[in-house]
Amino acid sequence: MSDRPALPLSRPRATRPRRAIWVVVILAVLALALILASLPRIERLYLRQAGAEDAATLRLATQVLRGALERTQALPALIADRAILQQLLAEPDNDGIVPFTNELLRQSALSLDVSDIYVLDTEGRTIAASNYRTEHSFVGESFAYRPYFTDAMGAGLGRFHALGTTSGQRGYFFASPVIDDTRIVGVVVVKLRLDAFEETWAASDATIMVTDINNVIFLSDRTDWHFRTTAPMGPRVLANITATRQYPVSMLSPLGLEVERLDPDLGFGLELAHVGDESFVSQTALIAAPGWRVTILTPTGPAIQRAWTAGLLLALMVVMVGLVAATMLGRRARLIERLAAEQSLASLLEARVAERTGELKAEVEERRATEARLRKTQAELVQAGKLAALGQMSAALSHEFNQPLAAVKSYAENARTFLDRGRSDEARSNIERISGLADRMASISKHLRNFARRPGDKTGPVPLKPVIDDALELMAARLRGVDVVYPPPEAEVWARGGRVRLQQVVVNLLGNALDAMERLEHPRIEITLSGGETPQIAVRDIGPGLSEEALAQAFDPFFTTKEPGQGLGLGLSISYNIVGDFGGRLSAENHPEGGALFCVTLEAAASGTPELAAE
Ligand code: ADP
Repeated sequence: MSDRPALPLSRPRATRPRRAIWVVVILAVLALALILASLPRIERLYLRQAGAEDAATLRLATQVLRGALERTQALPALIADRAILQQLLAEPDNDGIVPFTNELLRQSALSLDVSDIYVLDTEGRTIAASNYRTEHSFVGESFAYRPYFTDAMGAGLGRFHALGTTSGQRGYFFASPVIDDTRIVGVVVVKLRLDAFEETWAASDATIMVTDINNVIFLSDRTDWHFRTTAPMGPRVLANITATRQYPVSMLSPLGLEVERLDPDLGFGLELAHVGDESFVSQTALIAAPGWRVTILTPTGPAIQRAWTAGLLLALMVVMVGLVAATMLGRRARLIERLAAEQSLASLLEARVAERTGELKAEVEERRATEARLRKTQAELVQAGKLAALGQMSAALSHEFNQPLAAVKSYAENARTFLDRGRSDEARSNIERISGLADRMASISKHLRNFARRPGDKTGPVPLKPVIDDALELMAARLRGVDVVYPPPEAEVWARGGRVRLQQVVVNLLGNALDAMERLEHPRIEITLSGGETPQIAVRDIGPGLSEEALAQAFDPFFTTKEPGQGLGLGLSISYNIVGDFGGRLSAENHPEGGALFCVTLEAAASGTPELAAE
C-alpha cells in the first residue's frame, strides 16, 4: 500500500487560464496598436465625410452667386436703350431731365433689386445716379479710372468687381454704352452689392471665401480675411489694382494659406488647408465669367474629434471583447482543468478499487486454498497424532507386556519346580497367577486394538462410563502410584460421539495431567462424569496449571512446552477437533485451587446400542 502514488491533492493551479489571459491581453494590445496605427485613416474617413457634407453648401453658394451675376449682367444694356438717357447725355445740365432720370434710376434700382444704377458721360463723370438722394451720392463723381468704363466705351460690355470708393461697399459692376445713332454718348452702370451674400454664409460652421484671379479674397464670411491674398502677388498686378482702385492696397496682405494638394486619400476635389494653427478640409468651385474661385473651408476639429471618439470607442470595444473573451477562456480553461483533475482522480480511484478488488479476490482465493490445505493437513495430523499416540502407547504397552511376561516366565518356572517337588497347591496357585496375568494382557491388547482402529466418521450414542473405564485401563501402568479420584455416577451417561475417539481424548487428557504432575510426590487426578442436557467429562490435576501462553494456545497444533521427543503439541489440537466434530466443546482453565481443569462437554443422546457406537 505504501508504495502507491499519493492522490494529487495539490496540482499546478491555473497555468492554462493564465496563458489564455496572456494571449487575450496580447491580442488586445495588438488590436489597440492597430487602432492607433489606423487612426490617421479613420481621421481621413471623417474628414472626407465632413467635406462631402459641405459640398452641397458650396454648390448652393456658387449657384446663388452665379445666378445673381447672370441676372444682373443683362440689365445695363436694357437700361441704356431708354431714350431718356440719350436726352440726358445730350443735355447733362437740363434741370428737368436730370432729376427725372435720377428718380427713374432710383425706382429701377429698387424694382430690379440692385445696389446702384448710374449714368456716366464719355468722360467718366456721373450725370445721374439712383443714389442721388443719399450721403454717398455718385452724382458728379468721376469713374474714368474704372475698367468697366473704358471697357464699355470700347468693347460694349464692361464688368468689374471692386470695393466701392464712394460707398465702401464691395460690388460687382456691369456697364453698357448708351448709343445715340452710332455714337457712344455715355455709359450705364449697374452695381450689384455683394456684401449681402456673406451674411447667409455666416450661418454655416464652414468658412466660404471667394478669390479672384489675382488670389485676393474678395468675399468671405470671415471679415478679417477680406482683401487678404492666398498667393504672392506680382508688381504688375499690384500696379493695376492701384490704378483701377479695385482694392485698398494697404489691406492686401498674405493670409498664410497652405494647401496640401497631394492627398489622394481625401477624395476627389478635397484638399487639406491650413491657416495659422487652423486646419480645414477645402473644396473649390469656379464661376467662369468673373474668374472667381469659391472655396468652402470645413474646420477639421469636429471631424478629428469624431474620429478619435470612434477610435476610442473601437478601442474600448476591443478591450471589452478582450476582457469578456479572457474571462470566458479563463472559465473554460478552469472548467477543463477541473474536469481533467476530477477525471484523473476518478480513474485513479477506479484503478485503486480495481487493484484492491483484485487483491481481495487473490486474498480470498489464497484463504480458500489455505483453508483447504489446512483441512487436508488437519486430517493428516489427526491420523499422525493418533499414530504418535499409538507409538507412545506401544512403548508403554511393551513395558506393560514385558513385566507380566517376565512374571509369567518366573511363575511358570516356579510352578514346574513345585510340580517336580510334588507341591501341587503352590504350583496351581502359580498357574492361576499366570492365568490372571494372561487375562490382563488380553485386556490391554483388546484396548490397543480398539484404539489403533481408524475411527469412522460416524457418530452415535456412546455410554461415557465405559469410555472412562477403558481409558483408565489403558493408562493403568502410568497411573500406578497416582491418586485417581473418580466417583462414577450410578446411571449410565449417554452422549453423542464415537467411542474410540472419545477414549482417545480422555487418554490424552490423562496423559497431559500425568506429565504435568511428573515431579509431584503425591500426584492426584480428579475425574468427574456428569449427565443431563450437556454431558460432561472433567479431568483435573494438581500440577502447576496452565501458563498464560498455554491458556491462549494450548489447542493450537504444535504448541508444546515439553522437551523435544516428549510431545508433538498435537494432542489437545486433535482432541479439540474430535470433540468439535461431535458438536461438543473442549475447554481448558485453571482450577481455583490449583492445577489444570479440562472439560469435555458433549451433546446428550438417547441411550442406544453400545455396539453400534463402538466403532
Ligand atoms: P503435548 O502433550 O505433546 O505437549 P498437547 O496438545 O497435549 O501436546 O498439550 C499442549 C501443551 O498444553 C502442553 O505442552 C502443556 O504445556 C499444556 N498442557 C496440556 N495439559 C496440561 C496440564 N494438565 N497441565 C499443564 N499444562 C498442560
